[in-house]
Amino acid sequence: MIPKLIVANWKMAIDLDAVRVFEREWNGGPAVTTADVVVAPPAVFLHHAAVLGGVSLCGQDVSIHSMGAHTGEVSAAMLKALGCRYGIVGHSERRSGHSETNALIAEKASRLETEGLRPIICVGESLLERQSGGAESLIATQVTESCSGLSTAPIIAYEPVWAIGSGESASPDDVVVMHRHIKRTLDRAFAADVPVLYGGSVNPENCTQFTAHPEVNGLLVGGASLNARQFWKLCTSVGGER
Ligand code: PEP
Repeated sequence: MIPKLIVANWKMAIDLDAVRVFEREWNGGPAVTTADVVVAPPAVFLHHAAVLGGVSLCGQDVSIHSMGAHTGEVSAAMLKALGCRYGIVGHSERRSGHSETNALIAEKASRLETEGLRPIICVGESLLERQSGGAESLIATQVTESCSGLSTAPIIAYEPVWAIGSGESASPDDVVVMHRHIKRTLDRAFAADVPVLYGGSVNPENCTQFTAHPEVNGLLVGGASLNARQFWKLCTSVGGER
């Protein structure tokens, strides 16, 4: 049995003191045995997060370049060298704040794949796109274009933009519908089933409403992943197969 995948995205919302407190509390408590746990710290804290017990590491983003004169960038090879097994690309904060297109996200995902890291490709509609009835077609375009060029199945994180950090998660029924749609859309592109995570205001209280569904292969968690005790509670609440 492959357990559900829970990915913590710490964004730039944590400082070194808080990382040390997280480490002490996480490593001081019992291990999570019911879920596969992944942590995406800021790149500069990757070596600190490497001491977290029972956790795989993930980059929050990656450069489209493999190496060279690209000030401030972090390559897929660098993430790999620091122990990452995964890399997030296409987070809505990159799509909107840095004008990242599906084509650029596909290039980044390919860089990760080339280095043997599994891309976690984020997609999601805005509130306006959902209200106008255009969410499914937008998501189909995002997943198809963002995965183009990959030869192995990535992980998709479905994160409605309006649910991220807002305290208002999507309804589990809507999430299931969209996850089925994403899996159907990518059905022919990859030999294996594409795991789809849900992200958007997930917390220890609401997490099982999503993971109870077989279409939800795991979760991408922002705010509720910053406190070790809260995140541990969330991870241990989640059971079942990916
Ligand atoms: C995210 O940043 O991907 C996210 C889902 O954040 P939050 O859990 O805080 O909504």
